[in-house]
Amino acid sequence: MTHCELCETLLEKAIWKNRFFYAIDASTDEFPCFIRIVSVKHVAEMSELSESERLYLWRLLETLEEAMRKFLSPDKINYAQFGNFVPHLHWHMIARWRDDAYFPECPWGSKQRTFDPRTTQERRAHTKELLKALPALLDAVELPA
Ligand SMILES: [Zn+2]
Repeated sequence: MTHCELCETLLEKAIWKNRFFYAIDASTDEFPCFIRIVSVKHVAEMSELSESERLYLWRLLETLEEAMRKFLSPDKINYAQFGNFVPHLHWHMIARWRDDAYFPECPWGSKQRTFDPRTTQERRAHTKELLKALPALLDAVELPA
Protein backbone atom coordinates (compact mmCIF):
# COMPACT_ATOMS: atom_id res chain seq x y z
CA MET A 1 0.00 0.00 0.00
CA THR A 2 1.23 3.47 -0.83
CA HIS A 3 2.25 5.86 1.93
CA CYS A 4 -0.68 7.89 3.21
CA GLU A 5 -0.11 10.46 5.94
CA LEU A 6 -3.74 10.41 7.02
CA CYS A 7 -3.91 6.63 7.39
CA GLU A 8 -0.57 6.37 9.17
CA THR A 9 -0.56 9.39 11.43
CA LEU A 10 -3.91 11.07 11.79
CA LEU A 11 -5.89 7.91 12.51
CA GLU A 12 -3.78 7.55 15.68
CA LYS A 13 -4.85 11.04 16.73
CA ALA A 14 -8.55 10.48 16.08
CA ILE A 15 -10.83 11.71 18.85
CA TRP A 16 -13.48 9.26 17.61
CA LYS A 17 -13.46 6.53 14.98
CA ASN A 18 -15.28 3.59 13.55
CA ARG A 19 -14.86 1.58 10.34
CA PHE A 20 -16.45 4.31 8.17
CA PHE A 21 -15.28 7.69 9.48
CA TYR A 22 -13.13 9.30 12.14
CA ALA A 23 -12.95 12.73 13.75
CA ILE A 24 -9.87 14.90 14.28
CA ASP A 25 -9.59 17.95 16.52
CA ALA A 26 -7.95 20.55 14.27
CA SER A 27 -8.59 23.50 16.60
CA THR A 28 -6.08 26.35 16.72
CA ASP A 29 -5.86 29.62 18.66
CA GLU A 30 -7.60 31.39 15.76
CA PHE A 31 -10.23 28.66 15.37
CA PRO A 32 -10.81 27.26 18.87
CA CYS A 33 -13.40 24.71 17.70
CA PHE A 34 -12.37 23.18 14.36
CA ILE A 35 -13.17 19.50 13.87
CA ARG A 36 -12.73 17.30 10.78
CA ILE A 37 -14.82 14.28 9.90
CA VAL A 38 -12.70 12.07 7.63
CA SER A 39 -13.51 9.02 5.52
CA VAL A 40 -11.54 5.90 6.47
CA LYS A 41 -11.83 4.75 2.85
CA HIS A 42 -9.70 6.27 0.12
CA VAL A 43 -12.41 8.16 -1.70
CA ALA A 44 -12.20 11.69 -3.07
CA GLU A 45 -15.81 12.57 -3.81
CA MET A 46 -19.16 12.26 -2.05
CA SER A 47 -20.52 10.26 -5.01
CA GLU A 48 -17.95 7.51 -4.33
CA LEU A 49 -19.71 6.71 -1.05
CA SER A 50 -22.78 4.49 -1.03
CA GLU A 51 -26.11 6.21 -0.48
CA SER A 52 -26.30 4.87 3.08
CA GLU A 53 -22.74 6.05 3.81
CA ARG A 54 -23.57 9.53 2.46
CA LEU A 55 -26.65 9.72 4.67
CA TYR A 56 -24.63 8.48 7.65
CA LEU A 57 -21.93 11.09 7.01
CA TRP A 58 -24.57 13.82 6.79
CA ARG A 59 -26.03 12.71 10.13
CA LEU A 60 -22.57 12.76 11.74
CA LEU A 61 -22.06 16.33 10.47
CA GLU A 62 -25.47 17.42 11.77
CA THR A 63 -24.73 15.82 15.13
CA LEU A 64 -21.44 17.69 15.31
CA GLU A 65 -23.17 20.94 14.31
CA GLU A 66 -25.75 20.49 17.07
CA ALA A 67 -23.00 19.75 19.61
CA MET A 68 -21.07 22.88 18.56
CA ARG A 69 -24.23 24.98 18.97
CA LYS A 70 -24.98 23.46 22.37
CA PHE A 71 -21.47 23.72 23.84
CA LEU A 72 -20.20 26.91 22.19
CA SER A 73 -23.16 29.01 20.97
CA PRO A 74 -21.17 30.24 17.96
CA ASP A 75 -22.51 32.93 15.60
CA LYS A 76 -22.14 30.55 12.63
CA ILE A 77 -20.91 27.08 11.79
CA ASN A 78 -18.93 26.64 8.58
CA TYR A 79 -18.98 23.38 6.62
CA ALA A 80 -16.14 23.07 4.09
CA GLN A 81 -14.99 20.23 1.87
CA PHE A 82 -12.01 20.47 -0.50
CA GLY A 83 -9.79 17.37 -0.36
CA ASN A 84 -7.33 18.61 -2.95
CA PHE A 85 -4.28 17.31 -1.10
CA VAL A 86 -5.32 13.93 0.34
CA PRO A 87 -7.36 11.02 -1.03
CA HIS A 88 -9.65 10.98 2.03
CA LEU A 89 -12.95 12.74 1.66
CA HIS A 90 -13.27 14.99 4.70
CA TRP A 91 -15.40 17.83 5.98
CA HIS A 92 -14.04 20.74 7.98
CA MET A 93 -16.53 21.88 10.63
CA ILE A 94 -15.62 25.23 12.11
CA ALA A 95 -17.42 27.21 14.81
CA ARG A 96 -17.29 30.92 13.96
CA TRP A 97 -17.82 34.15 15.85
CA ARG A 98 -18.27 37.67 14.57
CA ASP A 99 -15.16 38.68 16.55
CA ASP A 100 -12.94 35.82 15.34
CA ALA A 101 -9.76 36.60 13.38
CA TYR A 102 -11.28 35.96 9.92
CA PHE A 103 -15.04 36.58 10.22
CA PRO A 104 -16.89 37.10 7.88
CA GLU A 105 -14.18 35.68 5.61
CA CYS A 106 -13.80 31.90 5.42
CA PRO A 107 -10.93 30.42 7.49
CA TRP A 108 -8.78 30.32 4.34
CA GLY A 109 -9.58 33.96 3.47
CA SER A 110 -7.97 37.21 4.56
CA LYS A 111 -7.38 37.88 8.21
CA GLN A 112 -9.66 40.64 9.51
CA ARG A 113 -8.35 41.26 13.03
CA THR A 114 -6.17 39.87 15.83
CA PHE A 115 -7.86 37.26 18.00
CA ASP A 116 -8.35 37.94 21.70
CA PRO A 117 -6.34 35.30 23.65
CA ARG A 118 -8.78 35.40 26.60
CA THR A 119 -11.78 34.77 24.37
CA THR A 120 -9.93 31.95 22.62
CA GLN A 121 -9.03 30.35 25.95
CA GLU A 122 -12.66 30.40 27.08
CA ARG A 123 -13.89 28.95 23.77
CA ARG A 124 -11.18 26.29 23.88
CA ALA A 125 -12.42 25.28 27.35
CA HIS A 126 -15.94 24.82 25.95
CA THR A 127 -14.46 22.82 23.06
CA LYS A 128 -12.80 20.47 25.56
CA GLU A 129 -16.24 19.82 27.08
CA LEU A 130 -17.62 19.16 23.60
CA LEU A 131 -14.75 16.75 22.85
CA LYS A 132 -15.59 14.75 26.00
CA ALA A 133 -19.23 14.41 24.94
CA LEU A 134 -18.68 13.93 21.21
CA PRO A 135 -17.72 10.22 20.98
CA ALA A 136 -20.98 9.13 22.64
CA LEU A 137 -23.01 11.53 20.48
CA LEU A 138 -21.41 10.23 17.26
CA ASP A 139 -21.71 6.60 18.41
CA ALA A 140 -25.45 7.19 18.84
CA VAL A 141 -25.86 7.95 15.11
CA GLU A 142 -27.31 4.88 13.41
CA LEU A 143 -24.71 3.07 11.30
CA PRO A 144 -25.21 2.59 7.54
CA ALA A 145 -27.15 -0.51 6.53
ZN1 LIG B 1 -5.10 7.05 3.63
